[in-house]
Amino acid sequence: MKDVRVRFAPSPTGNLHIGGARTALFNWLFARHNNGKLILRVDDTDLERSTGDSMKAILDGLKWLGIDWDEGPLYQSKRLEMYKKYADELVIQGKAYYCFCTKEELDIMRSEAQKAGKPSMYTGKCRNLSPDEVKKYMDEGKKYVVRLKVPKEGKTVVHDIIRGDVEFDNSTFDDFIIMKSDNMPTYNFATVIDDYDMEISHIIRGEEHLSNTPKQILIYEALGFEKPEFAHVSMILAPDRSKLSKRHGATSVQEFRDLGYLPEAIINYITLLGWVPSDGEEVFTTEKSVREFTLDRVSKNPAIYDTKKLTWLNGIYIRDCDIDRLTKEVIPFLISKGLIGDEYDYDYIRKIVSAVREREKTLSEIADAMSYYFKDDFLYDEKGVKKYFEKDGVENILREAIKALKAVDDFNLIETENAYRDLIERLNIKSGDLFHPTRLAISGRTFGPGLFDIMELLGKEKTVERIEKAIKYIESIKQK
Ligand code: GLU
Repeated sequence: MKDVRVRFAPSPTGNLHIGGARTALFNWLFARHNNGKLILRVDDTDLERSTGDSMKAILDGLKWLGIDWDEGPLYQSKRLEMYKKYADELVIQGKAYYCFCTKEELDIMRSEAQKAGKPSMYTGKCRNLSPDEVKKYMDEGKKYVVRLKVPKEGKTVVHDIIRGDVEFDNSTFDDFIIMKSDNMPTYNFATVIDDYDMEISHIIRGEEHLSNTPKQILIYEALGFEKPEFAHVSMILAPDRSKLSKRHGATSVQEFRDLGYLPEAIINYITLLGWVPSDGEEVFTTEKSVREFTLDRVSKNPAIYDTKKLTWLNGIYIRDCDIDRLTKEVIPFLISKGLIGDEYDYDYIRKIVSAVREREKTLSEIADAMSYYFKDDFLYDEKGVKKYFEKDGVENILREAIKALKAVDDFNLIETENAYRDLIERLNIKSGDLFHPTRLAISGRTFGPGLFDIMELLGKEKTVERIEKAIKYIESIKQK
């Protein structure tokens, strides 16, 4: 196989979405597996829709995911002269032509085709203009585009590594535009020139581009360029098999970052949108996917986008994450939720993260699960109140609990537990009669980390204060 050179070529007209991220990732995996190069090219010839903000968002998204590139970013908007040069050359060779048809003329062609029940195609009106006519129109300053002379007969076959041969009848194409009247290349033309110029060996992109590929092949043939290999990765559909859209929840990498997903979970998840390792395991490292990634094992079937699976994976990566890294990832969420300020006790936060992480699936959920360590004014879980606080005699048990806890000198996990065990024996109650209301009193919740872990982290003063406050609350509801 010749040197592998692939490219990711985003149009900077929005955020990095799941589909784009997957295209970037599959190119990256393929490059890394083959010791090849990934080139980042920016398809920014649509000057009106391309923005610097979008470019920044895409680059940030790639970097955050850990998708690095070897060359670029190369901007199409800086290569305009080259496209023009090639277009002019095609005209000189008689493989393309200047077309001076006005919008009105094209509208007439379209409506006539419609009337005849035919697909609306350019009729080839300017295909055979004489050099004199061309000169005359140019001298008059008439606007023109450049169109490729497409063969009227025969077929164009896309040899696709994933899909096999896909045939297109040339009769379904008209003489399509390669240069617009503002001297900008069309997507198909600029892509071919760049892919050739950048010596791209394999074009890996979404299935939505499959219908562009025969046109690009016709351009390769007109220019006499050697063609690269093609691989079109399947569509990503919503769980109900409809087209993926905003109503299916977050779809951009940025949104997932803001919701508290880890990049490695997203990478694992989007790899699964079309590929699985040979052992069929769904949780794997990037080292493994790089080692095993080949295009012939990429699925032909549409991938189904399922955020539940992503969230499940994220939970796994959170549980396995190094505690210091996880703490650092959680801190911005604590700050943005107003739970801590810019100055904080790192070690304390680290301990809490370690206590709560087990049950949580996103960084944001971890931060929420930590809220009662930083806030005293939490609400009590309603069901918990009914079950534990409304029970007869619970306030007396909690009063005894306060006494017992106040007597603990070294307020740690073991000593607090000992104090509680003694109390249970002395009062001859079930452990739940003491544990459940205490948990609700000090955290507002009915579940969470070990009760004595919470006590140790809160410290004696806070623990006692919160139980006192709960007793008052219980008394107030019982008076009603
Ligand atoms: N700029 C195009 C896109 O974002 C690139 C398509 C291609 O890879 O050729 O869809």
